[in-house]
Amino acid sequence: MNSINTDVCILGAGPGGAAAALFLAKEGIPCVIVDKAIFPRDKVCGDALSGKVVEILNRYDRKLVERLSNDSIQLNCWGVTFVAPNLEELSIPFRNKPKDPEKAREIAPGFISKRVDFDNFMVEELKKHGSIQLIQGVDIDKFERKEGGFSLQDKDGNHHIQAKLVIDASGAHSQFAKKIGGLEVEKEHHCAGLRWYYEGVEGMKEGNYIELHFLKDFLPGYFWIFPLANGQCNVGVGMRSDYVSKKRINLKQELQDIIQKYPQLRERFKNAKPVDDIRGYGLPLGSKQRKISGDNYMLVGDAASLIDPFTGEGIGNAILSGYTAAQQAKTAIEGKDFSSAGLKDYDLAIYRRLGGELKLSYRMQRLVKYPWLFNFVVRKANRNKTLRETIMVMFEDIDLRDRLRKPSFYFKLLFSGKN
Ligand SMILES: Cc1cc2nc3c(=O)[nH]c(=O)nc-3n(C[C@H](O)[C@H](O)[C@H](O)COP(=O)(O)OP(=O)(O)OC[C@H]3O[C@@H](n4cnc5c(N)ncnc54)[C@H](O)[C@@H]3O)c2cc1C
Repeated sequence: MNSINTDVCILGAGPGGAAAALFLAKEGIPCVIVDKAIFPRDKVCGDALSGKVVEILNRYDRKLVERLSNDSIQLNCWGVTFVAPNLEELSIPFRNKPKDPEKAREIAPGFISKRVDFDNFMVEELKKHGSIQLIQGVDIDKFERKEGGFSLQDKDGNHHIQAKLVIDASGAHSQFAKKIGGLEVEKEHHCAGLRWYYEGVEGMKEGNYIELHFLKDFLPGYFWIFPLANGQCNVGVGMRSDYVSKKRINLKQELQDIIQKYPQLRERFKNAKPVDDIRGYGLPLGSKQRKISGDNYMLVGDAASLIDPFTGEGIGNAILSGYTAAQQAKTAIEGKDFSSAGLKDYDLAIYRRLGGELKLSYRMQRLVKYPWLFNFVVRKANRNKTLRETIMVMFEDIDLRDRLRKPSFYFKLLFSGKN
């Protein structure tokens, strides 16, 4: 039996757990991080890393972001194309790509990287810190509250960890979040997603734009095509789980049918081949505020249900919450206070930073039900520079998202002349 005593134990070495460990190391705080997988390991995902990932990782070390930017595992991504139900396209740059080739080498506003590679890139960074004890291939499934912390044990009874503080970053199917945190899957705040890697898809956009297609017979779900570094594409579908159940949708069949059914997609896939099987995973959405800390623990990333309810983006919020949990852990260790009352500042910090954008995204998610409205906004934005720029800034500027919540803002934007 391998017995360990530690102040902080992190469950899961995905983006959320890895970020927590790296920011703890930056503060000089040792930790143990355990993952049931051995890296490199796959994770079903769209593989798109947003500007938020870049922003938070820059706080850890700009050099890490530079290395990622120069690594062949990733593609620089400069924007997003929305395809409306009437097939009109709206392309929005995340940031204007500099024309000067010297400047164009600056770090892109977003990346796309297969998770098998990106997560391994992060795990390699963990290994550079002597203060991080990384344990792989150990599935922790017993969590017992003990005086002064938690006693954790793996399935086989070979590993026993005693921790004053548990940072649970074990993802969408976290047993800790369910059993200790009391978080249940609520279908109206949960999305089902499928991923299929393809090669030979034609008509990819300049600037490696990611594409979100809102297809008329598949609303309120969406279909995506994201380009990848090796010439492959990440293709997939996502739909809120309550609609999947209510409409009795077979998502796997739907994904295969979409590619054949819509002429504009059929043409682009005519020479394309899948390179693996369709794989699915859950997306716990942040459309409902939850209690994400308690005595001796904090929940991070998908374990805390922090995925953006409109875009399905969760890596940025996982890394942000990992960072925030590390800051809170420092306060707890310094004040020797791991109580629920002390750790509730973590909840406050997370929802102060993310609450507004999660609420706005939830509103936008609900609008997708109305194809005419989607068509209208796309048509208007294609003719209105201010609206296009507004949407562009939305990807970086949270304050602007606040303004977007005021109905008067839309009124002015949509009905006040051409530009
Ligand atoms: C189909 C789909 C498409 C998506 N597309 C995107 C996208 O394009 N962009 C984006 O930003 N987000 C996307 N997401 C969301 C994104 O994948 C997650 O938000 C992100 O992976 C959350 O990171 P995490 O660190 O919280 O959890 P995870 O990445 O799930 O990592 C959890 C880790 O915990 C480990 N673990 C689990 N249980 C245990 C245990 N008992 N003991 C030890 N270790 C354990 C796992 O092995 C894993 O390594 C998508 C999700 C899906 C399903």
